[in-house]
Formats: sequence, structure tokens, C-alpha cells
Amino acid sequence: MIEDHIIKTIDEKKKEYVRFLQDLIQINTYNPPGNEKDVAVKIKGFLEESNIECELFPFGSNRANLFACLNKKFDRKNLLYNAHMDVVPPGMESEWKHPPLSGLITKTKIFGRGATDMKGGLAAMVIALKLLKSLDIKLENNLILNAVADEETGGNLGTEWCINNVLKKKSINLDFAIIGEPSGIFTLPKIIILGEKGRLVLKVITNGISSHSSTPFLGKNAISMMSEIIQNLNNFENEMRSIKEIKSSMSQEELELNLSSFFPSTEHFQEYLEKNAHVKSFLLASSQFTQSLNMIEGGIKDNVIPDQCTATIDFRLLPNQTTGITLKAFKNVITKLGYEIRDSPQGKPEDVFVYLEVVKESEASFWESWRDSAMLKHLSSIIERIYKVKPIHMIFPASSDAHYLRNLNYCSNTILFGPGNGMKAHTTNEYIDIKDFINSIKVYTIFAYNFLTNTY
Ligand SMILES: [Zn+2]
Repeated sequence: MIEDHIIKTIDEKKKEYVRFLQDLIQINTYNPPGNEKDVAVKIKGFLEESNIECELFPFGSNRANLFACLNKKFDRKNLLYNAHMDVVPPGMESEWKHPPLSGLITKTKIFGRGATDMKGGLAAMVIALKLLKSLDIKLENNLILNAVADEETGGNLGTEWCINNVLKKKSINLDFAIIGEPSGIFTLPKIIILGEKGRLVLKVITNGISSHSSTPFLGKNAISMMSEIIQNLNNFENEMRSIKEIKSSMSQEELELNLSSFFPSTEHFQEYLEKNAHVKSFLLASSQFTQSLNMIEGGIKDNVIPDQCTATIDFRLLPNQTTGITLKAFKNVITKLGYEIRDSPQGKPEDVFVYLEVVKESEASFWESWRDSAMLKHLSSIIERIYKVKPIHMIFPASSDAHYLRNLNYCSNTILFGPGNGMKAHTTNEYIDIKDFINSIKVYTIFAYNFLTNTY
């Protein structure tokens, strides 16, 4: 059977594949500035050894996106493998046990910045493409690899650019897309991520009236204004619901039910959650709207009534909670307190008003009809076969490039699945388990093989 042959080949070539991942980790793609072109050139060389054509799309200073596919025909079904080549900077290098660019290999792990997020997933997808080429199969459909830059700084120059300037230009319709982000959480089963939360970062500036603090009634204290707004943030979600009924895509109950099936009993699962606070908070964040007041500044002197206060709030939004609804609800909270909202931060000294500035925004995204997908069921069964445990389906609390694929009305059937523990991403002493990395190559290769040959 071809699947057994694929598994055997990957096991035999394990050392070679681990070295390839090490090579990618050792290339510095800290973003900023990125330098992703160095990794793209490495991948191009690796794939061209097997006569796989690669297109490089350079931009900026030593940056690039890469596009490769198994054949030149896109008129049938197309599967996309997307992976980012950039990594976050390492922070204090002295705090790393092994240097972040070492790619140190031990018996069970590979260390280094990006090992988990996500040079592991990137290498596994590249290897799957190369392996499939060597199988010399009759291709009914097509597999496309898109290795992108810029994910860690927003993805406009990476995935978004590639959708608009490569995929759409070549008139490629996608039937399914996998982004190889790390989708494990410690010892829990692997996760198939169906959606991600959105984000709205809002700067709120309250403008009051300055006066001597011995006569505070002559002024309007901007910090007190801000305090009123902050206290009313608790009503904020109700305010959103009054604008639009918001259905929860996946409730906390559904998520817990899904997960508890891996434990002998619900009590065991609850006990696990109590002992693993980080997992509990991850699950909470995955199924709830959150807001966090992260910066605040106001006042100039201990005897002056402050005329300005600035606060920055980070809202993390569930699918269906658009940034537009969130902003409207927030404005309602302020106007109900009796404050005017102005379009400009400028005003006269006697003006009392609030000014809002959107610092960052990205929409949430979710594959609504995932329960009906035969392709997803097939992928789950391959993951179960390789990892020996059924995967879980859930929403991701952080954001990834998936929203570009889902929300540009391009490929709603986009999931995240990849090797590595998501909780290790962006941390000091980042590493990936070799077994997980090798397993992911098996999953990507077998799934793509069946897709390419219409075998399911
Ligand atoms: Zn990532």
C-alpha cells in the first residue's frame, strides 16, 4: 500500500529531514527585518534537486515569497500548503540555554528560534512536496506550496500579497488550505484549528479641562473621565449584543465536551484543568471575547487637574464580532456616559470630549461549515492514524494568516495544523519534538497524496 510506503520512506530519511529543518533554523529570519529570501533560496535549491519548479517573488531588502507546485495545471482541484518563513526575534540571547540560531539536535528535540513557530511546519510541507514528486504519481489535481514572508508583522506583504498577486492572478481556485502553524498544546491531542479570533486595539483619549487642584470643580478631570469609561467596560459585551445578535461559533461547553472525551471521566478532565492553569486559560481565551486595558497615561503634576488621559485597550474578538460592531458598541458606552466623541484630537482648552484612534485591527475568521466536510474528516482520520489519537477541533485565541484566506472570500476551508506545541511559540528555549515533526511530514504527504489522486 502506498501509505505504508510513504511512512517507511519518511522513517528511513528521518536524519536527512531533521538536518533540513536544522538548516532552516540556522538561517536568520528574525522579523523585523525578515531576510526571508535566504530561506526561500534554500527551499528553492532543495526542491529543484527534484525538478520542482519554484517561483521567487523578491521584495524589500532581502525579502521574498515563494511559490511552488507539482504541476502547471490548476483547472482541477487545488490544495494549498502555506507556511511562513519569518520568526520573531529571540529577545535576550543570554537567557537561551542553546543559542537561538544553533538548531541544536538532541535525541528527541531540535532547539532554536522558529523550531516550533514555524520552521518545523514549513520544513515538513516542503519535504512532503519533494517526496510526492519522487513517487511519480499520476496527478489528477494539484498541490501548491506557498512559503511566505511577513507573517509575524501582519502578513500584508506575505500571504495577503500572494493571494492577490499570485493565486488570484493565476486564476487558482482553492479546495482546501492548510497553514502549518504549531497546533499542539502540551500533552493534549493535536488540534485542528478552524478559526481564529480577531483583534481591535483602540487608543482612547479623554480631554478634560485643566485647573488648580485646590479648586477641582473649576476643571474637568480627564483621568476621572477615563475611570468612568473603564468601569463601564463590564457592560460592553451586552452593548455589542444589543447591536447585533452574536452567535458563538464554538462554546466553552462544546470545547470542554470535545476535550473531556480524551479523559477517563469528566472529573479527571476537571482535575487536569485545575492542575494545568495555562491550558485552562488557553481554553477560556479560545471561546470568549476578551478585553484588556494595557496602557494608561495621564496627568502632568501633583497639583494640576489633568486635562488629558490616554488608555490603550486590546479587544480580542470572536468570529461574528466584527471590529465595526465593537467600535460602535464602545462609542455607545461613551455617549451613554454623556460624553461627546469627536473625529479630531484637537480642541479648545475648555472642550470636554473623547477621541478614539484605531491602532490595529484584524477581523476574526471561522470555517462555519466544517462539520460537513468530507475532506476534513479524511484529514482527521490520517492524523488519528499517525498520532494514534483523535485530533480536537477548536478556535485559536491568537491570529494567523488564515484570516486572509478565509475572509477575502477565497478559501473558507482553511485550517491550521502543524507540528510543535503552540505554547512554546515566541518563548525562550523554543524547541520542537522530532517525533511530532516527523509525524507531520507523514500527515501532509498522505493527505496530499490522496487529494492528488482522488483516493477518498
Ligand atoms: Zn507562526
